[in-house]
Amino acid sequence: MQYEAVIGLEVHAQLKTKTKIFCSCPTSFGAPPNTHTCPVCLGMPGVLPVLNKKVVEYAMRMGIATNCTISNNSRFARKNYFYPDLPKGYQISQYELPIAQNGHIDIETNGVKKRIGITRIHMEEDAGKLVHDPSRPYSMVDFNRTGVPLIEIVSEPDIRTFEEAGEYLRKLRSILRYLDICDGNMEEGSFRCDANVSIRPEGAAFFGTRTELKNLNSFKNVEKAIQYEIERQKEVLLEGGNIIQETRLWDPAKNSTTSMRGKEEAHDYRYFPDPDLLPLVIDDTWIEEVKDSLPELPDQKKERFISEYALPEYDAGVLTSAVELAGYFEDCVKEFNNPKQVSNWVMGALLGLLNAEGKTIEESPVSASNLSKLLKLIDQNVISGKIAKTVFEEMAKTGKSPEEIVKEKDLVQVTDESAIEEMITKLLENCPKEVADYKVGKTKVVGFFVGRIMKETKGKANPEIVNRILKEQLDKA
Ligand code: ADP
Ligand code: MG
Ligand code: ZN
Repeated sequence: MQYEAVIGLEVHAQLKTKTKIFCSCPTSFGAPPNTHTCPVCLGMPGVLPVLNKKVVEYAMRMGIATNCTISNNSRFARKNYFYPDLPKGYQISQYELPIAQNGHIDIETNGVKKRIGITRIHMEEDAGKLVHDPSRPYSMVDFNRTGVPLIEIVSEPDIRTFEEAGEYLRKLRSILRYLDICDGNMEEGSFRCDANVSIRPEGAAFFGTRTELKNLNSFKNVEKAIQYEIERQKEVLLEGGNIIQETRLWDPAKNSTTSMRGKEEAHDYRYFPDPDLLPLVIDDTWIEEVKDSLPELPDQKKERFISEYALPEYDAGVLTSAVELAGYFEDCVKEFNNPKQVSNWVMGALLGLLNAEGKTIEESPVSASNLSKLLKLIDQNVISGKIAKTVFEEMAKTGKSPEEIVKEKDLVQVTDESAIEEMITKLLENCPKEVADYKVGKTKVVGFFVGRIMKETKGKANPEIVNRILKEQLDKA
């Protein structure tokens, strides 16, 4: 029996507002425990929440950017459950009437394009954080995060492979960062994902029973956990067992998932409309305003890069995957107007360097301005493409400008034709055997001669000039 996987993702994105969703406490990260709290976010009796307008605007931005319909009327609901990090005993969320619904984003895996549906986007408040100190017989709780605004983005069960899940997540994160509403840091928890996974006989019209995977705090872990879970479910079914609907915890150390608890049903949460908050009415004028204020998004930028810079689709996709990378590329092109060459260097040398050093583009030791200067030096024949690689490495190490490095290390290309001519004449005189070889048609000795000249000039001779003069002299010899 061939099985296929069915996957739906629930993503929580922390919004970059200055203050919390229902009070004026700051949202900034890293403050001493319980200093960003007030009676509202601590759930004291008698307090009333007041909705932060920025949160609504940010949720609308994401809704519009993912092709959702924005609801003119939505409302907040209480999701009731007990946990020590939830002081009110309920989380304010949205239930029947979320702010955005019925959207989609497009992804691409291995050259195949696919549309993934977005069921809904709703706003909610974050819970606090439990701190477990093994040296104490109790746990502590930090309420700084309580009431920090989140949007939850729920996908349709349209995803079929772990690769698609990874691409979907990367695309969502990229859009959130383009919109500048979430910093998208999975390791720090500002972008979190739960994965719902089931399997079914290939082509079946029904869905199998799903499990929900938690504790997926990196892209790699999401992909690995899904991959593992699909295999686990296949084995259970092949051995004649049944999948139990449950929440499972990914253990990155053991590379496996383990059962955490039975899955709650919605009725277990006793959702009901929050009587402390008015229904949220959003008029079309506001929706239009937000729509008009959206920046260029990844797909649009990619199309523009293809048409404006005549880049291959692949290059345009890589360069627009992060808004900062796209900005870096365009900064370079402004100073050195050869987009394909800039793209080659950015995707090759630069991304290679950043990957190796685990740095983001904002932390790049090679600035856009210095990279364009380097490309100009190649273009003006001051240095060869080969030497440019050395200069780039030096720029990466020192942050110095390419001109400075070329001067310091005396790397200027030898383009003086008479000097090269003289070198070649001498070389041919000293190598009569190889010259004779050439004359009887063994043209591969040309490589030998070029190598010798490059060695003599420490790689600085202009290769085109060397090749041309060499050929002239050999043909005359
Ligand atoms: P809950 O609120 O209990 O988590 P939802 O109905 O909101 O449940 O669904 C959560 C996610 O699970 C959605 O992303 C949805 O696409 C996905 N999903 C629903 N059914 C299945 C299934 N059989 N297999 C895989 N994913 C599923
Ligand atoms: Mg869920
Ligand atoms: Zn507060």
